[in-house]
Amino acid sequence: MKRKNFLKLLPLIPLTASSMNLNELRKLTDPLATGSKMPVLFLGHGSPMNAIEQNEFSKGWVAIGKQLPRPAAILCVSAHWETQGTFITAMDRPETIHDFSGFPKELYDVQYPAPGSPELAGETSNMIQHTKVALDENWGLDHGCWSVIKHLYPHADIPVLQLSLARGQSPQFHYDLAKELAPLREKGILIVGSGNMVHNLRIMNWNTPEQGFDWAVEANDTFKKLISKDEHSSLIKYKSLGSAIQQAVPTPEHYLPLLYTLGLKNGKDTLTFFNDKTIMGSISMTSLMITG
Ligand code: ZN
Repeated sequence: MKRKNFLKLLPLIPLTASSMNLNELRKLTDPLATGSKMPVLFLGHGSPMNAIEQNEFSKGWVAIGKQLPRPAAILCVSAHWETQGTFITAMDRPETIHDFSGFPKELYDVQYPAPGSPELAGETSNMIQHTKVALDENWGLDHGCWSVIKHLYPHADIPVLQLSLARGQSPQFHYDLAKELAPLREKGILIVGSGNMVHNLRIMNWNTPEQGFDWAVEANDTFKKLISKDEHSSLIKYKSLGSAIQQAVPTPEHYLPLLYTLGLKNGKDTLTFFNDKTIMGSISMTSLMITG
């Protein structure tokens, strides 16, 4: 059927169908029944293989998934979606993107068929004043998102959206943008930053899968200390935190999702670290949950 003809038929769709859609939308945007706020996560995602391996990190994500209230939807800020300007995925059915190469077929076979939510994408785009957030129909869910979310919610029955990282913007820009997402917590939306605090793939050490270099351990400890003390301004100005941090964050994309998570913390929220480990020399899997 041609689009024009389909549009002509729209007024004929029975009232029950359109009321159902309205109810679904209301479910997405109503405040949490308890009046509490949805937790916020930062997940160190590491290797895409964590998507299919049963290891200490994937088990950590499963455990966190069991502690969380069931969200109305999930908004993920992944290190693996950088764009010119800021975008939010707005399709009904985001595809599972296998944005890596050289991994076993089993990993390429993984599908995470969670629905999207064009309604929530539009609502979020309208809510943000800090910058223009454009609606995206072309991305989907990249591995920074699905490799971790599939452990939290294996049934893929909760809508998942992604918010892109605007390339070339300052860390302060991302932190301030995150603050504008705060009302979503009260609407039952789980916001997940997915990256790695320490992430330097150029100098990984395959011989020490269970251990980080001294500077990586130091950087991980420094980050945890500053996060625990809510010293967000130092974390925003991470480039001035010395040589260990400079080695830990050679490029910003795996670090910036952490600033989204921190921007959503307010004074009364509590912090819990988990999966706290540096591995393969130069990666830290350290993750955190902020609970209100
Ligand atoms: Zn990554």
